[in-house]
Amino acid sequence: MSSPDILVVGAGAAGIAAARAVLRAGRTVQVLEARERPGGRAWTDSTTLGAPFDLGATWLHQAGENPLTPLAAGLEPFDHDAVRRHVCFLDGRLATEAEMADYDTAYAAFHPRLQAALATAPRDASAADDAPRGGFWDATVAHWEGPVIAAAPLAAMDLRDFMATQLGGPNLLLPGGIGGLLAGLAAGLPIACGAVVERLRWGEAEGVVAEGGFGRVAARAAIVTLPTAVLAAGGVRFDPALPPATEQAFHDLPLGLLTKLGLRAAGDDRLNLGPFTGLERRVSREDETAMTFIAWPFGRDHLMGFLGGEAAWALEREGEAALTDFAFAELRRAYGGRADRALRRAGALASRWGGDPFARGAYSHARPGRAGARLDLAAPLAGGRLCFAGEACHPRFAGTVGGAWVTGEAAARAALATQS
Ligand SMILES: Cc1cc2nc3c(=O)[nH]c(=O)nc-3n(C[C@H](O)[C@H](O)[C@H](O)COP(=O)(O)OP(=O)(O)OC[C@H]3O[C@@H](n4cnc5c(N)ncnc54)[C@H](O)[C@@H]3O)c2cc1C
Repeated sequence: MSSPDILVVGAGAAGIAAARAVLRAGRTVQVLEARERPGGRAWTDSTTLGAPFDLGATWLHQAGENPLTPLAAGLEPFDHDAVRRHVCFLDGRLATEAEMADYDTAYAAFHPRLQAALATAPRDASAADDAPRGGFWDATVAHWEGPVIAAAPLAAMDLRDFMATQLGGPNLLLPGGIGGLLAGLAAGLPIACGAVVERLRWGEAEGVVAEGGFGRVAARAAIVTLPTAVLAAGGVRFDPALPPATEQAFHDLPLGLLTKLGLRAAGDDRLNLGPFTGLERRVSREDETAMTFIAWPFGRDHLMGFLGGEAAWALEREGEAALTDFAFAELRRAYGGRADRALRRAGALASRWGGDPFARGAYSHARPGRAGARLDLAAPLAGGRLCFAGEACHPRFAGTVGGAWVTGEAAARAALATQS
């Protein structure tokens, strides 16, 4: 590897965006990626289920403002919201229309309540402090907003950051997967795969030096895009030590966990669910272990299961068989023995982001009182010689591929400025 102008550590959305921006500016770049593939937490498996299945990022959220929407234009993006419907089970039966209307009412009250609390909430308020509780559907709403969508309990998340990072539609799905999109955007970039960066020296007057089993790469500036949980665990040694505010930000922006499971149909039974129908159940506690499903995306013969928060960490530790057992137990609550006949246990596909040493979780949230950590992390160091980027750095679109992309481009601008 020759000495590039800019070194990028990590080839996820942020690293790919940064590398493309450096090349567009007419400078040279080298990307060092630990895994044997680019894409990071956006990864599409196209073989196990006989159709593409995103193990990580699934939707392009808030598509009108998402920088990846125009880049996905030729990939048949599909507006999920246009066909979105869901069924909800409680006590082993389908909720009635009146019960669903009550559920919708409870959901509609959630965000306005938290929004109203912002004006007077203490600096370290969590998203749980003012969440509605006690109503028949409140725990189910909290379960969705915490573990399922944000991948962590509401009490673990800063109220202001939680509200600032709320996402809206349109929510686009890609038939070939978000991982497929990013793999295409990475094509042709100078990415060295299997290159685990162990140490980064950034105190040199002349630039930076990355070291690992691959050897040593020197550059004028470096952009580090690793997940905050990897950085907090000391995945890279920085020499000299980082400023305390940067180091603290790694710890104040932990990753929650969302696990995805793909289960294939055994025959023709589609459980009376149309393509893209959401299947969920009422829970009585926010932290109840519960799995939700989206049926037969694009008319394909698999269900997508989602399990988030503490339950996801626990079941990932128990292993894939335990996760599949749990998914079947959930489906049996709604369909009894029909679930065992309709779906195959063999050939299930599960994500394992928690134990993955290059992710250590799904996506970030801010600890109560630490909404400011995102900007602390994104602040360029040594005049741009060392910049951090990645989903955790975006104060509005944190936790998304689009947010990661924007921070990668911003870091590239800061790093390039060191050389002008
Ligand atoms: C289950 C799940 C569902 C999700 N759903 C959505 C969704 O629907 N929509 C959405 O927008 N987002 C979603 N996300 C979040 C989205 O995937 C991330 O926000 C985004 O991909 C993060 O990109 P990044 O570049 O910041 O980090 P990453 O993609 O994690 O990239 C960092 C890269 O650094 C590499 N690396 C780590 N350590 C080293 C090292 N020491 N040396 C070199 N390289 C290293 C990693 O291998 C990785 O490739 C989801 C994530 C998960 C896990």
